Amino acid sequence: MAISIPFDNSYGRLPDGFYTRQNAGHVSAPSMMAWNADLADLMGIKADDLAEAAQVFGGNVIPDGADPLAQVYAGHQFGGWSAQLGDGRALLLGETIGTDGQRRDIQLKGSGPTPYSRAGDGRAGLGPVVREYLMSEAMHALGVPTTRALAAVRTGDQVFRDTMLPGAVLTRVAASHIRVGTFQYFAARGDTVALQALLDHVIARHYPEAMGPAQLLKAVMRRQAKLIAHWMSLGFIHGVMNTDNVQIAGETIDYGPCAFMDIYHPQRVFSSIDRSGRYAYGNQPNIAIWNVAQFATSLIPLMTDREAAIEEFTEIVNGFPAIYQEEWIARFRAKLGLTRQEDDDLQLIEELLALMTEGQADFTNLFAALPNGTARDHITDPAQFDAWAELRHARLVGEDGADALMRRTNPIVIPRTHLIEEAIVRAAAGDDDMFHDMHSILGTPFEMPDDPKWTRPPTPEEIVPATFCGT
Ligand code: AMP
Ligand code: MG
Repeated sequence: MAISIPFDNSYGRLPDGFYTRQNAGHVSAPSMMAWNADLADLMGIKADDLAEAAQVFGGNVIPDGADPLAQVYAGHQFGGWSAQLGDGRALLLGETIGTDGQRRDIQLKGSGPTPYSRAGDGRAGLGPVVREYLMSEAMHALGVPTTRALAAVRTGDQVFRDTMLPGAVLTRVAASHIRVGTFQYFAARGDTVALQALLDHVIARHYPEAMGPAQLLKAVMRRQAKLIAHWMSLGFIHGVMNTDNVQIAGETIDYGPCAFMDIYHPQRVFSSIDRSGRYAYGNQPNIAIWNVAQFATSLIPLMTDREAAIEEFTEIVNGFPAIYQEEWIARFRAKLGLTRQEDDDLQLIEELLALMTEGQADFTNLFAALPNGTARDHITDPAQFDAWAELRHARLVGEDGADALMRRTNPIVIPRTHLIEEAIVRAAAGDDDMFHDMHSILGTPFEMPDDPKWTRPPTPEEIVPATFCGT
């Protein structure tokens, strides 16, 4: 075989109740649409023949050493409890340990039905695969912890959503696919033996320094707080922060109805199914606290003195806002080019965000224009910007390297929704050029691309008002 994957599988050693072993479904004519050679190298994967690799990452050929299984989990979706979810259109092939020493899952997404598919067909359309590939690789290039994309394979089959669409399989790579919902699944069933096994696995794999549930909770919470602050600093809206979409290792996971904001508004929502605005941009930190609290609750059955544990865990979770706020302000200080900390910084940041809301500023372009002195052009009434600019000017006295800091903090290129949609439409018609171009441009988000199309906000006709789940 011209393909070799140095599997080293650990999840499959957990007890039976954690998953169902099975193979992927057959696809008619797999062809490689995108292959992430850098990531493959990092993971120690050798694939000389992409036609052969398409058979593997389309699901037709199970590679040597793989141990395919669908993971079970549960979760709160939009606040409502689902006692059983799971990999309904995904299959874990196994894990590798990369040249950097990192263990990573290799998962096929869109690989056919499993016992957890409920009414779904277990398949994915080309659109969601393209969107996840571009989004996750863009987030990686921006320095945000995230799952990644190793491959996109066209299946040669059609999937039926509202209409017939070309089918595809995404190979997702993650530190692991263990979610808050995985803990919730066993906690809700009162299976403390399994819960303990999961705890031991997670601590050994992701948080070796944690000495038990309380320390794990603290560490998971810290990563969530940092992650959400990072999202906020980029104008990223996840869109479906259900507990089954909160990954324990702290990576962004599940790129469904997500988006980077164009015009800034703190209550912006994209997801077509988020009618109450639960997962609006400005709600993300509060939802993260809620999700961390569900994680805390799922750990309680492991504690001998449950009353005392509830008290201790409550206090831990109450520490979220302080950690988040510190991260958030550090990120926005850097966006303004500030290295020193001063008391009025919060006010300076908040006043800018208020001006941006009022002035309908493009979030990315306004920050990117700060070092050029042209930020005022991004506000509908530029004169309103000038008083703030003077305050900031005064604040910058004595700051060294502000411009360089801003230039490495404020991206110029983000995966704008209207461009992703255009890339999807073209790819569905058989032309992948825009997808590949966009992927390449998104790889260097702090550099000015030659073509202004990549940085231009959508025209009114181009605006995509809502994004959808990947299903
Ligand atoms: P998600 O919206 O991706 O977080 O998925 C929520 C749940 O629905 C998970 O349990 C998925 O496995 C399941 N699911 C989503 N799409 C499909 C599909 N096309 N076929 C089967 N199950 C699906
Ligand atoms: Mg999910």
